[in-house]
Amino acid sequence: MAKLIFLGTKGEIEKETLKHRYHSSILINFNNFKLLIDYGLKHKYKLEEIKPNAILITHAHPDHYIWLEENIKTEVPVYLTEETLSYGKYKPYNYRIIAIGNKFKLNFLEIIPYRVLHSIRCPAVGFKIKIPENETLVYNPDLVDILDKDEILAGVSHYIGDGSSLKINLVRRRGDQFFGHTRIITQINWCKKYDIKNIIFTHLGKEVIEKEEEFSKKFPEAILAYDDMELTL
Ligand SMILES: [Zn+2]
Ligand SMILES: [Zn+2]
Repeated sequence: MAKLIFLGTKGEIEKETLKHRYHSSILINFNNFKLLIDYGLKHKYKLEEIKPNAILITHAHPDHYIWLEENIKTEVPVYLTEETLSYGKYKPYNYRIIAIGNKFKLNFLEIIPYRVLHSIRCPAVGFKIKIPENETLVYNPDLVDILDKDEILAGVSHYIGDGSSLKINLVRRRGDQFFGHTRIITQINWCKKYDIKNIIFTHLGKEVIEKEEEFSKKFPEAILAYDDMELTL
């Protein structure tokens, strides 16, 4: 059995509420191995309190990657792309470079980093994580699109996506490149197409936090995560 804890659930916005005070970050605990994904500037717990065995980073924006601005010291291995490492002002002491599509194993968890469109200057990845006994989750808190949806979304039981926007269009374009955040409804449609049963949104934007009450009526197939929410898989 794996346990997921949403340590933070808001995006890079000023607004905060009691339920969404900290930047998006998730902790997966399986077989006493603790895997932390993202660690941004606004966090509730210090790394010494979380005690992760490893950290994965999606991209170098400050709500995901503290080393962009703060030189925090830890022996914990931090897995990130070359692009993320070279963008930050500081570097984690014990960094490990990962590449798109190159699978690796941490304890019993199999991890596949995949490309998501999100930022031109800070290219982002999502993580597909296979947990023994058939649960597979994807975590992509910031995205416009997944490049290879057929490959990545096949066989997924839990989709954890970008809750930045319900109706407002946050996708921008420069030349032929798109960046920003796609809408929740678009991601729900992907999940329906690929038959993903558990749909969870984190990285909530202002519009979504303000309409949180209506959300469950409008989208009963999905849930909005909140800080310290726990799920057992
Ligand atoms: Zn973000
Ligand atoms: Zn971002």
